[in-house]
Amino acid sequence: MLDMLNKIVANPKRFKNYIAGELRDAQDGSVIERESPAHGAVVSIYPQSSTSDVEAAIEAARQSFDAGEWAFRYGGERATLLSTVAQMIRENVEELALIETLETSKPLTVSSGEILFAASLWDYAAGAARTLHGDSHNNLGPQMMAMILREPIGVVGIIAPWNFPLLILSERLPFALAAGCSVVVKPSEFTSGTSLKLGEYLKAAGLPAGVCNILAGYGDPVGQAILDSDKVDMVAFTGSTGVGRRAIAASAGNIKKLSLELGGKSPSVVFADCDMNAAVDGVLKAANVNMGECCIAGSRLLVEESIADAFNQRLAERLKDLKVGDPFDPASRIGAIINQRQFDQIKSYVAVGIHEGASLVCGGDLTGYEGLFFPPTILADVRPEMRIAQEEIFGPVLTVMTFKDRDEAIKLANSTDYGLAAYIWTNDISNALFCSRHIQAGRVWINSALDGFPELPLGGFKRSGNGRETGRYGIEEYTELKTVHMHMGLQSERWVTDV
Ligand code: NDP
Repeated sequence: MLDMLNKIVANPKRFKNYIAGELRDAQDGSVIERESPAHGAVVSIYPQSSTSDVEAAIEAARQSFDAGEWAFRYGGERATLLSTVAQMIRENVEELALIETLETSKPLTVSSGEILFAASLWDYAAGAARTLHGDSHNNLGPQMMAMILREPIGVVGIIAPWNFPLLILSERLPFALAAGCSVVVKPSEFTSGTSLKLGEYLKAAGLPAGVCNILAGYGDPVGQAILDSDKVDMVAFTGSTGVGRRAIAASAGNIKKLSLELGGKSPSVVFADCDMNAAVDGVLKAANVNMGECCIAGSRLLVEESIADAFNQRLAERLKDLKVGDPFDPASRIGAIINQRQFDQIKSYVAVGIHEGASLVCGGDLTGYEGLFFPPTILADVRPEMRIAQEEIFGPVLTVMTFKDRDEAIKLANSTDYGLAAYIWTNDISNALFCSRHIQAGRVWINSALDGFPELPLGGFKRSGNGRETGRYGIEEYTELKTVHMHMGLQSERWVTDV
């Protein structure tokens, strides 16, 4: 393993933008160097795109969409191309997983699983390209019929975050392409590698030039130019609520459609009648997967008062077995935090929580941890108005509150501005169903955590965002409806009387 790392450090991977069908460096030759958060060495070098690069990408997308070659192409042909890319992702799973683990520090096995799931999203979108269709009405009277055409929305900008680089992009890009859109993608400055590899695959698979453009660079100017451009018809943004608000402001220019997946503060609601072992495991998984850097992280535990002490103790005991360390060590479940800023944010939230009166059940203490490694942390005695109960920490920190009955559990679950996900642990199915109807969240898991399927939609309520990705609803987001009214035979009535 050390050998492999030394080789990569001596010769970091270099990536190119994919613009107008060509693999290119930034026009001015600038680059971004990405260090592995776990190893502190440069592992990837991306183009640092400038305004002229992003303008070229947007123009290429606009021209390709207006030319209509992809938008009007038979869905079966679009499907074949998307399936080819799915296959390429599978064939390159080792390389892609290596890139993601080096850039994000998620354990290698986790990266491989995510890459394979990403491939299945491309497969699903391929199927959707064939089956996407409009509607018709023949109940409008003897001489009227109507067709509802489902058309691609146009040029789509996709701005992606660093936490699940290929996976989050694959929840969006193949769906936009399946619908017939042209696309400009800006991955995160921290994790652009696998997104830029997709450019190579799309080119090799024969996508017409300009239909998909992928370029690395900073949020400002590259992401901001996509938000501001009148040539872009829709933006799919995933990331912080702050930049989501910028997207909303910028969309006023040309009344862009927006699909936003923003922050979360999702509850794990644990009732006393749950299967304790399964719930403990599920709560820890929901809180700590991807180092807690996960928009649907179950970062708030709401546990029924009668079992709270025993449950917290079990959580703390199980955490002792969770290995924090080198993501290439097969035993590691938790790697390093993505960057220094995120690490400092997590550390300061723990301090804020203790200052607000929370008590530390475990973790929090950085003694024995080097660099950007942060131990899973549990804070109990949390009250709903505390900042650590309201704000997204985006790290391996679980806040614990208790409830006396179901009404209180639901009230607490709904007591934040967010509404992305919820996890319910109970053996009473009626209780679980009642909670899933009353908790405000885009996704609810009952007695499980984080399972995902390309068939199912995802997205948020309240300030967690707008729109849905994946599944049938996901592809429909990238379309417009056009109603065609058709009159049969001669019109019998005139608006202006015949002479
Ligand atoms: P950001 O919202 O800044 O980043 C998400 C994407 O937006 C990145 O590609 C980023 O570019 C881009 N971006 C940044 N500024 C602009 C802009 N002005 N116009 C257009 N695009 C822009 O998130 P951070 O990385 O700063 O993380 C901060 C917090 O956001 C986290 O602590 C977490 O709370 C939340 N977050 C939520 C995610 C989710 O899945 N919902 C994912 C990531 C973060 P670049 O990074 O390349 O500069």
